[in-house]
Amino acid sequence: MKIKSIIAFTLIMLPFLCLAQYDTYFTNTGLRIDYSHSGRVGIDYFTIEQLIEIPYFSGSHTNLIDKTNNGAYLVSLYDKQTKQLIFSKGVSSLFNEWLSMDEAKNMCGNFEEVVVVPYPKNEVEIAFSVRDSVNNWKEVARYEIDKNEIRGVEFFGNKAKPSHPKVITLNKTKRKVEQRVDLVLIPVGYTHSEKEKMMQDLKSMTEYMFSEEPYKSLKDKIEITAVERYAKQSGIGGLKDSKVTQSDLGVVYNTFGSPRYIMTRNLWELYDVVDEVPCDAMILVCNDSIYGGGGIYNYYATCYMGKKSKEVIVHEFSHSFAGLGDEYADNDSQAGVTSSKVEPYENNVTTLVDFSKKWGDMIDKDTPIPTPATKQYENKVGVFEGAAYMGKGFYRPYQHCMMRDLTPFCPVCTKSIIDIVNMYCE
Ligand SMILES: [Zn+2]
Repeated sequence: MKIKSIIAFTLIMLPFLCLAQYDTYFTNTGLRIDYSHSGRVGIDYFTIEQLIEIPYFSGSHTNLIDKTNNGAYLVSLYDKQTKQLIFSKGVSSLFNEWLSMDEAKNMCGNFEEVVVVPYPKNEVEIAFSVRDSVNNWKEVARYEIDKNEIRGVEFFGNKAKPSHPKVITLNKTKRKVEQRVDLVLIPVGYTHSEKEKMMQDLKSMTEYMFSEEPYKSLKDKIEITAVERYAKQSGIGGLKDSKVTQSDLGVVYNTFGSPRYIMTRNLWELYDVVDEVPCDAMILVCNDSIYGGGGIYNYYATCYMGKKSKEVIVHEFSHSFAGLGDEYADNDSQAGVTSSKVEPYENNVTTLVDFSKKWGDMIDKDTPIPTPATKQYENKVGVFEGAAYMGKGFYRPYQHCMMRDLTPFCPVCTKSIIDIVNMYCE
């Protein structure tokens, strides 16, 4: 074959080769890997705690190797015999954010983390990588997965987990599980007597998700369901004068001392809620009217229910699902801040250290870099100073964006979201 025809052949055959790869290495079920991530700044320990076979692996069967270069950590699966990389996924976590707290300099932290991978047919190894000083991957731990240790979902029925939960469909697509995004809404802090409000809030949240482009145009690719579940007490605790004493699923305001930051550290309990449902992403719909939310890449997003919920959830979900960074400069949180001498891994933020990986191809030739935030460059893609909580040294692609001031998404964020959705749908 001539080179040209080899290239054409490879391109045409690629999806089939990838599917063959999936069938060679994996079954149609999923493997949930619960692990502890402990350590402090510069030290990471990963300890596998439990392995659970779940009914679905809802991710793409063709895009098995993560090419996004996003997230603070990378989890990889290798075939034990051939040492071939067969699956990888970038993730971020609360542990990563905790590292920016003062206490992380000398105290040891310990956080629950989870990765769901396709269920391997053969013996596999799992590797954990962290970012080095210039944001390249550095493998720090590798273990064999002992298949004798894997349990089925039913073995863990002794916890608060509901067995065979009732699933509510909120946006139905015509696509197969592995060719769509499965977004699961988890109601938090609703009691049985608030069932009607819960159903209304879940519907509102679904409407909010599709209220903005590009999500609006991607409606036929994003299946939204919710798991019906109830809390013992109404509302979300965590704030100083709160009357809520029992936090449902451990969800609280005031995470890391930031009053509006709603998160839970009980990740394994959270996965117990969804592990019988196809799930690529989770939103915790929080039954409280005090403004707040949060979102971490390939972890989960949270949102309160109130006047600004629409903007808050679209913003937070874009952190958790698309790995977009914040494009604003001033904030009391230092979470995720890195040196301006290193190129950040988020698609929509740059330090200009290695701009070649970013949105250069979307900028007009006559637009200066950096770009002044003047009327002339309003509604134009450029490189504007002020992003990632920093006024200096960090740059964003547009003067206004959902990731900066809750206005419509800029072209760079729009493209990132579309790319991620398509990655799940191939
Ligand atoms: Zn943007």
